[in-house]
Amino acid sequence: MSQIYDRVALIGLGLIASSMFWAMKRGGLVGEVTGYARSAETRDTARRIGLCDRVCDSAAEAVEGADLVVLCVPVGVMGAVAAEIAPMLKPGATVTDVGSVKRHVIEAVSPHLPDNVFFIAGHPLAGTEHSGPESGFAELFDNRWCLLVPVDGTPEEPVERLRHLWEGMGSNVETMDADHHDLVLAVTSHAPHLIAYTMVGVADDLRRVTDSEVIKYSAAGFRDFTRIAASDPTMWRDVFLTNKDATLEILGRFTEELFALQRAIRTGDGDHLHDYFTRTRAIRRSIIEAGQDTDAPNFGRSHQVTK
Ligand code: NAP
Repeated sequence: MSQIYDRVALIGLGLIASSMFWAMKRGGLVGEVTGYARSAETRDTARRIGLCDRVCDSAAEAVEGADLVVLCVPVGVMGAVAAEIAPMLKPGATVTDVGSVKRHVIEAVSPHLPDNVFFIAGHPLAGTEHSGPESGFAELFDNRWCLLVPVDGTPEEPVERLRHLWEGMGSNVETMDADHHDLVLAVTSHAPHLIAYTMVGVADDLRRVTDSEVIKYSAAGFRDFTRIAASDPTMWRDVFLTNKDATLEILGRFTEELFALQRAIRTGDGDHLHDYFTRTRAIRRSIIEAGQDTDAPNFGRSHQVTK
């Protein structure tokens, strides 16, 4: 396959950027990849593990001459990073991002960019609870969705080229409007994370009462919440602060449903509970049918628990 971009710059070198690097190299999709991260420690790690063809000591140096610049930093600093790199962008370059919220990122980044570059916001719906330059792997995006949100007036060619890159990295790609993206993600990702954080927080509050039994006897339900609740604190703080309206809307609906289930338990309304759980089980089935999770029991974990 011929190269889709000659020069790519990754700003931020964590889970998503490192996975992109390995996936781009796996597919031979691009030429030289430069990278920059805020701390010298992360840049040193990147150099040690061969993450990026060239690790630069400033964002400006990394983006110089790049045909594609990918902002892989937390949502809350996207605007500041865009302001920093703007003067060095090559005319005709494409700037994209991988942030988990889209309306805020578009509003924070667009005003800083010169008219002669294209900004196409993006969001790969793939991740793990790990972060940092050593957490990435080439397969992260395989068979996962990547949503692209081109700003109004963006010509077709740069959007198609970016789509081609994500497809080469294994993703299925769709374009979407920013507000719609933020609402869909509030349901599928943001509210569930907040609920997991809350459940683990409640268990932690009860620790004294239960004498650490929640940890010792951690069964599937709680254990799965702890995996989600181990996600990066900076990233998730920024997600909630920047997708406020959609998250609050979904949490309002969640609270209403929770009250209804609470009432069913109190009044012994078994039919309500059974109907509800039947409906939710069907959703799990449709996720498996869509190829978005494994059908193996307990998410395919080995039965052997090693300490
Ligand atoms: P990560 O592993 O925590 O890495 C973040 C990177 O950003 C680090 O290299 C960090 O540098 C760098 N950084 C932070 N502030 C910076 C600044 N002001 N200037 C330059 N670099 C800066 O994060 P991630 O999981 O890859 O997430 C990156 C983006 O992807 C976020 O916007 C997130 O919303 C989005 N996303 C994440 C997931 C997921 O599951 N993790 C999924 C989809 C999308 P240092 O190491 O030097 O601090």
